[in-house]
Amino acid sequence: MNNRLRLCLLLLGCALCASAQKVTAVRFAKLWDGQKVIDHPLVLIEAGRIRSVQGGNAAPPAGADVIDWSRYYGLPGLIDVHTHMTYYWDRQSGTLPRGQQRMAAVTVFLAQENARKTLESGVTAIRDLGSSEYTDIAMRDLINMGAMLGPRMFVCGYGLSTTRGFRPGTTPVSGGGTADSPDEVRQAVRRQIAAGADVIKMYGSVGGFDNVGTQQTFTYDEMKAAVDVAHTMGKKIAIHSYGPEGARDAVRAGADSLEHAIDIDDGTLAEMVRRKTYYVPTIDHNRYYVDAASEYQFRPGAVEGLNQYIEKNFETAKRAFHAGVRFAMGSDAVYTMFGQNTRELAWFVKLGMTPEQALQTATVNAADLLGKSSDLGLATPGHYADLVAVEGDPLTNIQVVIDSIHGVMKGGVVVVKR
Ligand SMILES: [Zn+2]
Repeated sequence: MNNRLRLCLLLLGCALCASAQKVTAVRFAKLWDGQKVIDHPLVLIEAGRIRSVQGGNAAPPAGADVIDWSRYYGLPGLIDVHTHMTYYWDRQSGTLPRGQQRMAAVTVFLAQENARKTLESGVTAIRDLGSSEYTDIAMRDLINMGAMLGPRMFVCGYGLSTTRGFRPGTTPVSGGGTADSPDEVRQAVRRQIAAGADVIKMYGSVGGFDNVGTQQTFTYDEMKAAVDVAHTMGKKIAIHSYGPEGARDAVRAGADSLEHAIDIDDGTLAEMVRRKTYYVPTIDHNRYYVDAASEYQFRPGAVEGLNQYIEKNFETAKRAFHAGVRFAMGSDAVYTMFGQNTRELAWFVKLGMTPEQALQTATVNAADLLGKSSDLGLATPGHYADLVAVEGDPLTNIQVVIDSIHGVMKGGVVVVKR
């Protein structure tokens, strides 16, 4: 090897090691790392993950990129465990949010707006619970490739449902997640996993949008079949139930999380505590439907039904919290709700949680529900450098997390700056 070539290789090697060791340093006034508060911390980040957190105004290492958020309070990136990211409305006059027809690829492109608004709300990871044509899987992959800006997505493909179409005269509707027996349920779960799903979603009752009906759909045996296949294949499962009967069967069948349910009986709450089943009440999504009722042109009387559901949902969540059930924060964001992903936290504080307990539902608890506790939910060494800077003290006033986001970092890169 001649000397010139050797020198070139040496320089190249140094350039490579310099870029591999590129360090970013972030300063905050305070950092709540998911468990404790650190004063005047310096967070060092390398290769997208937190390398160290040092309190007491430590000096950044020479050559580090310094992000000065020293006027702000830092938190781990928030996690929303219930979204529908690919539900997109382009607001064209004469159209409603629901029912617009377009190619799947166009939906994926347009839904970037939902992803951006979610990041702007301080949410750096989401669990997406129901999509069609695997547009959710496409978005997840594009975001992971760096080709699209958005939160880390953990997706389910099609939510499983029974054949729908209850009104007389309508043709029954079936789709990629339709299943009407334990065998069909097993096949449908396997189809989602084969397509690339991270998690399974099952609609165990009716209910959604202005329909606050609580009728159970899947039987206990069908729920059990879904849970067994999902768990055998290493996946978790979320079961939607608006009513108490579906909730009881979902919990007994072994669901990892129960979505929405009202009027959950005491025996089921005790079972949730025993089994460590997460409750994702999504109280705020019906508040959103009330606010957006004219946008959706809901039928007369819909708002009254939604308000009654909110009241029961809130009371049920309060009972669940006092019974010791674990919570995870889910918005159930669809269409024009993106950007309001964390308003659920205010309901949690209202029902009796401290702001810190509420924040844990959107950090450590949510990460545990995703099975990603070593990557997400804490701002401690080894975790992804997903961080949020807020103006004010979130541990005394949860509202600052909802209204006063200053900046958001994902994987060591600033993705939102105000
Ligand atoms: Zn949902």
